[in-house]
Amino acid sequence: MYRIGIGYDIHQLTQGRDLIIGGVKITHEKGLLGHSDADVLIHAVIDAMLGALALSDIGTIFPDTNPKYKNADSTVLLKKVYDYIARKGYEIENIDSNIIAQQPKMMPYIPKMKEILCRILYIDENRLSIKAKTNEQLDAVGECRAIKAQAAVLLRKI
Ligand SMILES: [Zn+2]
Repeated sequence: MYRIGIGYDIHQLTQGRDLIIGGVKITHEKGLLGHSDADVLIHAVIDAMLGALALSDIGTIFPDTNPKYKNADSTVLLKKVYDYIARKGYEIENIDSNIIAQQPKMMPYIPKMKEILCRILYIDENRLSIKAKTNEQLDAVGECRAIKAQAAVLLRKI
């Protein structure tokens, strides 16, 4: 049996924060604002995994009112969610995702992101797609005030 989920996330860019996307620290003068490390890609993937099994969303499972998740490493949250779906008898068939950022260029960092996410999720790299797009200078993302991510995840019952 297969289950599909979608995930979406957006965070504001701000001074004085590290930019961490897909578990990779990216060289940039701004970072993403959030209660955790604000890893927009991992958050979208987590929401897609939870959505596939109708298990609410990241904000319900890891509330931003909980001090435990302040500056939390999102790779740790992803691991927890992976363990949760694995306990329910599912594994990941494939993931497709988009990072939408006007700046900086994501391309150089994508191989490392894939390596990190595939290791946590126990999948080969041919099951994980990470695509990078700009927002054609439009809206908050295009004006370099935010970065967005989208993900679709297909789960397979073992
Ligand atoms: Zn987020």
